[in-house]
Amino acid sequence: MNWKISLSDLDIGQEEIAAVTEVLQSKWLTMGPVTQDFETAFAQYLGVKHAFAVANCTAALHIAHQVLGAGPDDEIISPALTFVATANSILYTGATPVFADVTSLDDLNVSPENILSRITPKTKGISVVHYAGYPCDMERVMQIAQEHNLYVVEDVAHAPGANLNGKKLGTFGQIGCFSFFSNKNLVTGEGGMVVTNDDELAEKIKRVRSHGMTSLTWDRHKGHAYAYDVTDLGYNYRIDEIRAAIGLVQLKKLEQNNELRATAVETYHKMLHDVEELTIPFSDYRGHSSHHIFPVVLAPGVDTNQFRTDLREQGIQTSMHYPPVHLFSHYQEKFGYTRGLLPVTEEISEREVTLPLYPTLESESIAYIVNAIRAALKRQKQVPVIQP
Ligand SMILES: *Cc1c(COP(=O)(O)O)cnc(C)c1O
Repeated sequence: MNWKISLSDLDIGQEEIAAVTEVLQSKWLTMGPVTQDFETAFAQYLGVKHAFAVANCTAALHIAHQVLGAGPDDEIISPALTFVATANSILYTGATPVFADVTSLDDLNVSPENILSRITPKTKGISVVHYAGYPCDMERVMQIAQEHNLYVVEDVAHAPGANLNGKKLGTFGQIGCFSFFSNKNLVTGEGGMVVTNDDELAEKIKRVRSHGMTSLTWDRHKGHAYAYDVTDLGYNYRIDEIRAAIGLVQLKKLEQNNELRATAVETYHKMLHDVEELTIPFSDYRGHSSHHIFPVVLAPGVDTNQFRTDLREQGIQTSMHYPPVHLFSHYQEKFGYTRGLLPVTEEISEREVTLPLYPTLESESIAYIVNAIRAALKRQKQVPVIQP
């Protein structure tokens, strides 16, 4: 399908091409100086002590839960209104994901009070997702975690650069996990980052990322170490120099691109304010969002599929975030989760539509989208709804 307006678009240019070319010419393709520079720059940007670049965010999350000690007897509380990797990464450790509902149709982040209600003697940690880039109530989440001796992993896939009271998301919990997948705010193709302020965890993360080995190729190359031991079960979750080079350039553009996203969202707000059959979540929300995606919630009774079809016919690509994880077959079969477990999450999954958003989305395009939305909603009013 050739979209008139696609859901997302990348800001890739000559600088990225030059950076990749330089790496290829250097003939040092993995775990070298460019990766170290990327990690240092990312850590500095976030204001965090340690950052480790990895293959993707799913690997980052797996590493996080493993080094924090999750295992087969443990329960980890997570939202279900997220990409499946948030929960799959818990399963990789043998632990059980226990799902908490999100706050409301206006606040699509996990509810701290619902987290509290899911705590059992087996609970070991909490995984939060900053949906669309909007900060979860980290003050309350960290308070609950401290009171119940739980760890907190932040899935920051949507929220690089977002902050709460000036503190960057990903630095509140013990570990933060970022994604640089092709449709995120900072892209390297595949790629991710694990960040922490804890020195001991940092050592573990570094080893687990690379086979559990105590020393790395680059250190040996520089003559720092001649042998290695394997102290933990590790994986090959490394990134390569090519992606790290793209990441370094992309990081420089992140602040400005996040601001352009914010401007586009503001334009949407202005143009949609009198559309009654639709609400825009996260009104008057805490913190500063990175505006990864632009979700809207359709009024009860509006046919979401028909609405999306009508927009598609106008060349507008939409999406939905997310099919709830607890209702996927694998999760239903393995844990017996059923519909009704998370009423708010389930309702959102039926009424949410994600509209196009990217830094270079122009206000004329937004006007075009909003016109298509008005037409789609008007058409639904005219067609009598026939119940099967
Ligand atoms: C994209 C995404 C992930 C997975 O990231 P990958 O880098 O593709 O592994 C995890 N969680 C959320 C919320 C995401 O949006």
